[in-house]
Amino acid sequence: MPQLISPEQIKNALLKQEFKLYYQPKVSMITGKLCGAEALIRWETVNGGVIPPDQFIPIAEESDLICDISQYVFRQLIIDYSLIGAVNSDIKVSFNASGKDFHNDKLTQLIINAVKTKLIDPSSFEIEVTETVLVDEEHAKVCLKQLADIGVAIAMDDFGTGHSGLVELTKWPFSILKIDRSFVMSINKSNKDRQILQASIRMAHQLNMDVVAEGIEDKETYRVLQEYGCKTAQGFWISKPLALTQFVCFVQKFNDLSAMPIGLIYMAQLDHIQWKKNIIDTALFLHNCGEHRSLDNIRKSPQLDHTKCKLGQWYYNEGVSFKHISVYAELEQGHKELHQIGSDLLDLTQQKCSMEVLSKTIQQLTEKSMNVLYNLQLLENYLHMEQYQSDH
Ligand code: C2E
Ligand code: MG
Ligand code: MG
Repeated sequence: MPQLISPEQIKNALLKQEFKLYYQPKVSMITGKLCGAEALIRWETVNGGVIPPDQFIPIAEESDLICDISQYVFRQLIIDYSLIGAVNSDIKVSFNASGKDFHNDKLTQLIINAVKTKLIDPSSFEIEVTETVLVDEEHAKVCLKQLADIGVAIAMDDFGTGHSGLVELTKWPFSILKIDRSFVMSINKSNKDRQILQASIRMAHQLNMDVVAEGIEDKETYRVLQEYGCKTAQGFWISKPLALTQFVCFVQKFNDLSAMPIGLIYMAQLDHIQWKKNIIDTALFLHNCGEHRSLDNIRKSPQLDHTKCKLGQWYYNEGVSFKHISVYAELEQGHKELHQIGSDLLDLTQQKCSMEVLSKTIQQLTEKSMNVLYNLQLLENYLHMEQYQSDH
């Protein structure tokens, strides 16, 4: 049984600066490169021992000491980042904050001031919060919104352990969903958990949230999550949390992991099917309704710009990693033409075209859509082949 730690001892340790930040690397499942690290606090005692956070964070959470810890952590993060960012500027560091940090404005103001005075770039770090923010919901929402507005990404940590569903989370300015390690680890044991995880990743994608999976302890789990469309991986399989100097060595020596974002192609296929259904539904609605309706007056009107629909967003961002493959360029042409047909279709229906013209244009749209899906499938096949070759 570990000895119970008193708030006095925590206060003393803060004064003596015995708390250190360890960094656990995160890897992009799209590029296979290091893309981030989570700062995790450790208490390095004078006698050389290291006390893990679960032995003192819950005690600090019972008082306002947790706020002192968070402010200490953020200040230390800025110092450490000057070294980490110099070694690899693609690495974003995240740190954990408690719900109590947002009962008042102290931490929020500290962060805003650090950004304003250019001590740290808001795009270089992220804040991880858990459901403890729900306690003083209104104030926490205001603080987190202020931080999101200045460009700081906020992650919902430990997703899958608490009570909030994704719908509740949409009311918050979260742009990242971190799936708890217990949930990640359960996919090897339970089919049902696998399905819930896959559906959660899909839902997060639809809500424009990036998914980070923590607790990845083996290659198989990494693969499964990559196939489900998860974008970032963290876990002992990549590395345990490391002291700053060890972490910097790790970054310098890191060999990229496999970059096979098959799951994102699958997402692009689903996104495309949804877009196609939406445009056909909208066309039929416009054709059937008596008076003239402008697109602005239609709920959920389809995105007509081929660079802005969800497939387009994938194509011009993560999809760029396929630019060396010829089918990638073919996909762009087909997709552009598809959007042109979609746009024509809506024009025609607004002009109350004949049923014959309507069905002919829908037919053209369907054929072009099949072509887009076919090219996406070719990309997926290409990745499967690469994966096979890298395994043999
Ligand atoms: P967390 O924020 O969910 O951090 C992830 C935890 O999962 C870390 O534990 C990490 O070491 C562990 N982990 C990551 N990958 C694996 C894996 O593959 N296998 C296993 N078995 N574990 C893995 P750690 O460092 O002990 O931290 C535990 C919790 O303590 C954190 O959970 C966080 O809630 C809290 N914590 C840590 N540092 C801070 C801090 O600076 N401030 C606050 N408020 N809380 C902190
Ligand atoms: Mg965390
Ligand atoms: Mg977590």
